[in-house]
Amino acid sequence: MKAYDIILKKRDGEALSREEIEFMVLGYAQGEIPDYQMSAFLMAVFIKSMTPEETRDLTQAMTNSGHIVELSGVEGIKADKHSTGGVGDTTTLLIGPIVAAAGIPFAKMSGRGLGHTGGTIDKLEAIPGYKLNLTEEEFLAQVKKIGIAVISPTGDIAPADKKMYALRDVTATVDNIPLIAGSIMSKKLASGADVILLDVKVGSGAFMKTEEDARELARTLVQIGKLAGKNTRAVITDMNQPLNSHIGNALEVREVIEILKGERPDSALRAVSVTLSGHIIQMTGLEPDLNKAIKMAEDILVSGKALEKMRELLIAQAGSADVIEDLSILPSAKAVKEIYADTAGYIESVDVLELGIITRDLGGGRFKKEDAIDYGVGLILDKRVASIVNKGDKLGEVYAKSQQEAEAAALRLKKAVKISENTRQDREILEKPLILDVIG
Ligand code: URA
Repeated sequence: MKAYDIILKKRDGEALSREEIEFMVLGYAQGEIPDYQMSAFLMAVFIKSMTPEETRDLTQAMTNSGHIVELSGVEGIKADKHSTGGVGDTTTLLIGPIVAAAGIPFAKMSGRGLGHTGGTIDKLEAIPGYKLNLTEEEFLAQVKKIGIAVISPTGDIAPADKKMYALRDVTATVDNIPLIAGSIMSKKLASGADVILLDVKVGSGAFMKTEEDARELARTLVQIGKLAGKNTRAVITDMNQPLNSHIGNALEVREVIEILKGERPDSALRAVSVTLSGHIIQMTGLEPDLNKAIKMAEDILVSGKALEKMRELLIAQAGSADVIEDLSILPSAKAVKEIYADTAGYIESVDVLELGIITRDLGGGRFKKEDAIDYGVGLILDKRVASIVNKGDKLGEVYAKSQQEAEAAALRLKKAVKISENTRQDREILEKPLILDVIG
């Protein structure tokens, strides 16, 4: 078998056999297939797509490229979650502490930023000292001891995904259903949890732009999970505006800690995280009624138990827990530029993709695999879609390395936020629910 022939076959739109897919995936993971051939293969898949059988075989090959974690030594029904990627999407850092405080073991291996979207690992790295690389033994011991661990996948968990993910990020081959499904489900299946909740984002800031595509991705993910015998569910959530008001690694950690401390009761991030936590609580059977399970998640957050669980997590992984009392410990960019509304009206739309790209351009994401991240840069958007604004109201601010970069990014941010002067009736149509559907 030759990589060249397999690339050619996919380029011409033919379906690949399980053996051919395994050859590419395992060959790449083992360093026998070079980046340039895998890049061409990924682009061929991106353009010609894959059948459901190919997607299943891709996932299996990626899962089997490494080791599968054995969580059976941890008591209870273990939970995991994964987002398909968004902007200002920091749900893991709320869901983990909430469900762990409910007594559900939360064993999570997270990813780095991908394309314009952020990644939990980059965000956690913004916390001074936080140790992301635990051995599997340390990971399991921590989940047993405090009920939660959030780490970077150990080297042998779906190593094919680790390499392919980094390559997709810099070859414009991210937003594709088979590649996303293979990437997410290989990690989830290799991580060994019993319950898998998938947060499928849809909208201008997500990889899936339409509800139809998001449903197809959700069905694909759930089907792969169920075939592997896992209790799997997908919740489709809105990404037509950022979930956090803060975007950027340290800024997002800041917002999460504020929510855990009981601030920001109206935050969209808080609402979605509580609902998704409720789904996990229900799926594990701890509370079979979904509404009661969501209420349980809310009560845990309000009681401060989730904050205490976050503190335990930070202490266990050597992150500076002082950050909870003193947010100034987090990295912060020096130059700040605020933006204001030029007209009165209401927020008609936010170009979320552009917000993600602005943050990456400021240094909060990567262009090349080896790029270092600037954790302190990013932006804050004070208004949500449909909010009424008066002329001169502050809309947000940019955090950059230099004043010049802050000014340039502020201009782009202002352009990305569209203010409409139409009627109030128009405005109300824009108020979309945060949770759009549940699949599985
Ligand atoms: N998250 C992943 O882990 N992989 C993808 O491809 C997209 C989002």
